[in-house]
Amino acid sequence: MSISQNIEEVKSKLPSSVKLLAVSKTKSLEEMEEAYKAGIRDFGENKVQEMLKKQENFHEDVNWHFIGKLQSNKVKYVVGKVHLIHSLSSIKLLKQIEKEYEKGGEIAQVLIQINIGREESKSGILLEELENLIIEVEKSNYIKVKGIMVIIPKGDEASNSKYFRQTKEVFDSLKKRKLKNIDMEVLSMGMTHDYTIAVSEGSNLVRIGEGIFGKRNYNLGGENNE
Ligand SMILES: *Cc1c(COP(=O)(O)O)cnc(C)c1O
Repeated sequence: MSISQNIEEVKSKLPSSVKLLAVSKTKSLEEMEEAYKAGIRDFGENKVQEMLKKQENFHEDVNWHFIGKLQSNKVKYVVGKVHLIHSLSSIKLLKQIEKEYEKGGEIAQVLIQINIGREESKSGILLEELENLIIEVEKSNYIKVKGIMVIIPKGDEASNSKYFRQTKEVFDSLKKRKLKNIDMEVLSMGMTHDYTIAVSEGSNLVRIGEGIFGKRNYNLGGENNE
């Protein structure tokens, strides 16, 4: 199937309230153009250099989402260049974002990435560290938290549902509280192989790579999950 047919197929399974983010990491501008023509205006990248290079040669009316692990020393390059950072995962990174966005006179819109499965191989904050991160968010002047992002452990449908549901509970409990600099609007969960389950558990933004663009070729310089 072509990229545009894949997009139609995915969209047909999404309620209109769910945003489709096309994960274009490792993919060419030509492939992204096809997605653009099919109506996609939100693209996800996980490498700072790759994203910046693509931005120079692509349409201006798109939202760029940074979904990968963001190294502190790279924060300065994304100031003013991303619509949403999905991967705030530590106080150290928060402080770096605060510092660089202050310098650039911009406000960072971020999601807190939660490591719901407590996997050592994954980034994201552990639930017991969340309150301390929130305290720092409330002290910030250049950071707005817009929601939560999660990558769940591999597993069967029941396991997927469980982790998505737990994440939704965290989302809802933060939404109920009145916290400075925090507006729980975006629940970024679900990828190619689990997005329908994520949506039924309350996701309102799905991040689809292979389901749109086909398999990635990591030999061309791509990188796994984060
Ligand atoms: C690569 C990636 C995706 C997309 O994964 P697919 O399985 O190709 O849909 C989604 N989210 C993050 C954080 C990623 O790194």
